[in-house]
Amino acid sequence: MANIEIDTPNFRRLDDGEHLSAKIRSGGLDYEVYFKTRNGPICIGVEPFLALGLLPAMRRGQGLRVAHPVSSLLLSHLQLLQARFAQADPRLRIIKVTAEAESPPQPLSERRVGVFFSGGVDSFFTLLERHDEITDLIFVHGFDIPLTSHQLHRVALQNAQDVAGHMGKHLIQVETNLRHFGDRHVDWGEHLYGPALAAVAHLLSPQIRRAFIPGEYLGSSRLVASRLDIDPLWTTEMVQILHHGHDVTRFEKLGRIGSHPLVRRSLRVCWENRNGRFNCGICSKCLRNMAALRAHGILEQVKTFEHPLDLGALSRITLPWQLPHIAEGLREILSRVEREGSDPELASALRGCIHERYHRSRFYGPRRILRSLLTRLWPSKAS
Ligand SMILES: [Zn+2]
Repeated sequence: MANIEIDTPNFRRLDDGEHLSAKIRSGGLDYEVYFKTRNGPICIGVEPFLALGLLPAMRRGQGLRVAHPVSSLLLSHLQLLQARFAQADPRLRIIKVTAEAESPPQPLSERRVGVFFSGGVDSFFTLLERHDEITDLIFVHGFDIPLTSHQLHRVALQNAQDVAGHMGKHLIQVETNLRHFGDRHVDWGEHLYGPALAAVAHLLSPQIRRAFIPGEYLGSSRLVASRLDIDPLWTTEMVQILHHGHDVTRFEKLGRIGSHPLVRRSLRVCWENRNGRFNCGICSKCLRNMAALRAHGILEQVKTFEHPLDLGALSRITLPWQLPHIAEGLREILSRVEREGSDPELASALRGCIHERYHRSRFYGPRRILRSLLTRLWPSKAS
């Protein structure tokens, strides 16, 4: 079976920063993947591209061939890393990685500690919890904000600069087109998000000795992209990668960070940005976060939501049955609101959403998949 192949990376120093790219060959196509920053130094190694290529290879059951030597520590973790991914998601297969091990360079002594910062609940929580240790905020363009969304990127970047400035931290901006390759092979939220963060941590290893990946509380969900038992296995001799905050629910996190003035003026939860809005206020994620903030009694103080919470829209959101932690999060809010008895309208909207939508989608979701499978196997009998 054909391999996914990663060429030797090409490092360039540009007028406005540093640039690392590599060609990844997959399915007869060549993808030129790059990372760029004006806040160097960056690495010249292949580890960022290995992190990007592993899950697509596992998803396709193809070997991964790397033309450039790889950190021996990372290489020694790959078997266990793959085993954990495959255990969490049977669609991922353990594949052969062909690469030479490299003796690591001597790390520089005064390197710093970074946290990935999108402006969301998890990144604010990790930043505020570990602010004594963290020196740098890492802001990536090309992950949740598409490279073509210039206006949204400008506002989100200003936001991150504002937070970094007020916290006395250094901001590192990185731009990458890695989703051009990744999205054609795997789902961003399921398989790519964590490896993509690890790739940027590897990229910044000449200046960052430890990188925090802000973790989401997963409850009974089995998301595999970024998890406590997976993220640290991306560590190399140059950069330690840690997963933080997985044990605190979103509702608890908002309760703990919601009084901070920077959170109140900068919180960014939306990844859909409908109508080009910073927090659109109408997508499922906006509505769920707004419900949590309202239950804490601080929604009006968070200035990044322009409109009041639409309870009708909240009661109608669809909760994906394969991500039970989302419904669990809403149940946590509901039990607080019911216990306090202070907001019956919010309680009613939450009940409507959880009991009707979640149970219906949980019932019909697997049936829909079964029906579609049957349709493929026996087209004439289905429907
Ligand atoms: Zn939204």
